[in-house]
Amino acid sequence: MKDRYRIVVIGGGIVGCSVLYHLTLRGMTDVALIEREDLTAGSTWHSAGGFHAMNSDTRIAALQKYTIGLYPDIEREGGRDIGLHLSGGLVLAGTRERWRWLRSELAWLRAQGIDAYELSPDEAAEMVPIIDPSGLAGAIFDPLEGNVDPNGATHAYAAAARKRGADVILHDRVLSLTRTGGSEWRVETEKGAITAEHVVNAAGLWARKVGRLVGVDHPLVPMVHHYLVTDDIPQVAAIEGDMAAVTDLEGFTYLQREGNGVLLGVYERNPRHWAVEGADWDYGRELFPPELNRITPELSIGFQRFPVLNGIGIKRWVNGAFTFTPDGNPLVGPVAGVPNYWAACGCMAGFSQGAGIGLALANWIADGDPGTDVFGMDVARFGPYASNDRYLREMTAQFYARRFVMAYPNEELPAGRPLKTTPCYDTFRELGARFTVNWGLEVPMYFAPSIDFAETSTLGRSNADPIVAEEVAAVRNAAGAYEIAQYARYEVTGPGSERWLDHLLSSRIPSVGNIRLAPMLNARGWLMGDLSVTRLDEDRFWLTGSYSLQDWHGRWFERNLPNHGVEMRNITDHRMGFSVSGPGSREIVQRLTPDDVSDEAFPFLAVREMDVGSARAVVGRISLTGELGYEIVVPTDLHRTLLHELRAAGEDLGLRPIGDRALDSLRIEKGYGIWSTEFRQDRTPGMSGLDRFVAFDKGEFIGREAALRERETGARESLVLLELDATDEDAAQDDGIWFEGRCVGSVTSGAHGHHVGKTLALAYIDRAVAEPAPELSVFVLGEPKTARILLEPPYDPKGHRLRDIAG
Ligand SMILES: Cc1cc2nc3c(=O)[nH]c(=O)nc-3n(C[C@H](O)[C@H](O)[C@H](O)COP(=O)(O)OP(=O)(O)OC[C@H]3O[C@@H](n4cnc5c(N)ncnc54)[C@H](O)[C@@H]3O)c2cc1C
Repeated sequence: MKDRYRIVVIGGGIVGCSVLYHLTLRGMTDVALIEREDLTAGSTWHSAGGFHAMNSDTRIAALQKYTIGLYPDIEREGGRDIGLHLSGGLVLAGTRERWRWLRSELAWLRAQGIDAYELSPDEAAEMVPIIDPSGLAGAIFDPLEGNVDPNGATHAYAAAARKRGADVILHDRVLSLTRTGGSEWRVETEKGAITAEHVVNAAGLWARKVGRLVGVDHPLVPMVHHYLVTDDIPQVAAIEGDMAAVTDLEGFTYLQREGNGVLLGVYERNPRHWAVEGADWDYGRELFPPELNRITPELSIGFQRFPVLNGIGIKRWVNGAFTFTPDGNPLVGPVAGVPNYWAACGCMAGFSQGAGIGLALANWIADGDPGTDVFGMDVARFGPYASNDRYLREMTAQFYARRFVMAYPNEELPAGRPLKTTPCYDTFRELGARFTVNWGLEVPMYFAPSIDFAETSTLGRSNADPIVAEEVAAVRNAAGAYEIAQYARYEVTGPGSERWLDHLLSSRIPSVGNIRLAPMLNARGWLMGDLSVTRLDEDRFWLTGSYSLQDWHGRWFERNLPNHGVEMRNITDHRMGFSVSGPGSREIVQRLTPDDVSDEAFPFLAVREMDVGSARAVVGRISLTGELGYEIVVPTDLHRTLLHELRAAGEDLGLRPIGDRALDSLRIEKGYGIWSTEFRQDRTPGMSGLDRFVAFDKGEFIGREAALRERETGARESLVLLELDATDEDAAQDDGIWFEGRCVGSVTSGAHGHHVGKTLALAYIDRAVAEPAPELSVFVLGEPKTARILLEPPYDPKGHRLRDIAG
């Protein structure tokens, strides 16, 4: 052990060892891993070692695919047998509805280039003869499933890293982490102190405790999980070679071959947390006694699906703990306010995700970004609210209990809600609002006409569709008021503001009294935000962005903020308001203000500070619905008053509150993208069409060279608007798009265009395919639907209504 390393990784589980290996792979060899005990001493040693590529986030799925593909290399390089069985896996559907859902998963797997296929119940039982096929609706076979020996795989990573120059220090607990006088870490361990430029928290069951050493409270919590291993089963013993793994979704169980018997794991609906603050430091390789009462309901379903188990002895019960985050994905990356501290924790599927985490983290340390869009596992995707004990327990319990439960796209889940509400929440409830949640904030989806209205969970269009249609009609024909509390706002002030924003944003900076759409890029030319910049004064600006990106953007701003001359304040919780849009919006706003809001006095993209009703408001002439519109932002304590005043002023003009679903329909009729669907970190201005807001000729800004290069060569993909031949269901994010037998792109969002009467979707497709604009096929719920590229949006293609131009 040296007294100085460039990077210290804390924790020798599958994740820490993979991180160590990937650091060395990127040429960072002055690195050490410090492990409290022996390698695998946390969750890793008693894991079932199963892996699969499927994840509801396509980008994470790609990293899982990478993890699986790396195992043979790790085995070779580490020089250890890792017990790799790439057996493939069956996923069983126990109901017709689940089968419909599973077929869309199958289409999704194929779009990811995975050669999956469907089987009848009898074919599934032929492949794995201990399955009782009765009552099954169907099954799919995914070739990218299997399992490894957890111990062998972890040691192989460590051995491979050692060969490349890393040190692995065992039986040495990290006791404290403090800043040296410079920008380095002093890592106090049981065996002495080490100075390091970077530290990585891969402490698994102890990660919350290690985070707290640097003042970070990570939203993760250990939970208890059972599997059993049986004695030999003749039908299994008779299978030569690998046996496909089985996930019985309606049975809450997973099964894999273990010698000549099987391993059966359970995701029970009554889960249990353990050591919420992190395991005790002296917690060893201990298992908990089996809690049969708690898991019997699910286990008995498992025994029905695999009836042979009723007559077979159980060799071993494993009841151990591993960590969960509110959405089940890990926490990876740097943390704002704690330079050179990196998270690689909260991982509940180390054998599917270990290499992906290592790759992303090593890229991030080496290059300043993870090399791909890893927002789905970025530690910055949660705000401070997520570490609250009640919230964390409720969310993780819900995630665990629903791990195999069918998720409907229109289903709202109750855990941790309501958490954050705006001052209009109670009024909205009285008005019939049904809410969704964004970064802990309750956001109206639509306003139901009666208190008794209950939306049915469905894979297709729901019984709320006619309500959404009415809200869309209100905006197109009269006016709608959409709450804009779920936009984040940052105030930028100081003499250096304009210069700094000019460097940070790729657009031109507006003159006083104007707004501009301002794509923000990183050095690779990828999107870091689809912001708008509002100039309120010479040295006073507002940046407006996505509510859910506050920590993510905060980290980026912190990294780029100069030491003096510019101040930045997150004012999101202090300012909110309404976007009023539709042909009647001008008259409504005019009734509430002495200022002139006519087109001459207040043109498109202008911004004014003015009295609106009882509030001093910042009003922008901008809208996302494609109609004439005004965004009215007021101090939060006047937000509810503004709603009441708007409603009173707009009642006779047909104003109605609208929710997120109507907005989605309205924006897609105009072909407008939004963050998290069309605009993401792995998209560029050229792909997304945001290049029309980039001021290529304005001089230096972050990402300019890359954006210029892309302009010369052309983007490889294009964002297009599609019309689908579908009437009862809409396309969903990541639905694959096919042309001449190959997958040429994927959907980003789909919606029923209520006003234009079309089924629409935004999608990225290969540019070479997009340009001739052929007929395409989009797989919606696993069924191919014909789709055509629309060369212009079906609603108001020239933008006359938005700009309020006659004709
Ligand atoms: C019963 C069960 C079955 C499972 N089955 C599967 C499965 O089939 N597939 C799958 O992918 N996942 C499975 N898992 C989950 C899997 O085990 C975890 O995802 C994985 O082990 C997490 O690895 P890790 O490296 O993040 O954490 P851990 O394995 O907990 O490793 C953290 C390490 O950090 C060390 N450490 C902590 N604090 C310090 C400190 N201060 N100083 C030095 N060292 C420290 C610990 O000693 C420990 O070795 C299962 C888990 C359980 C409990």
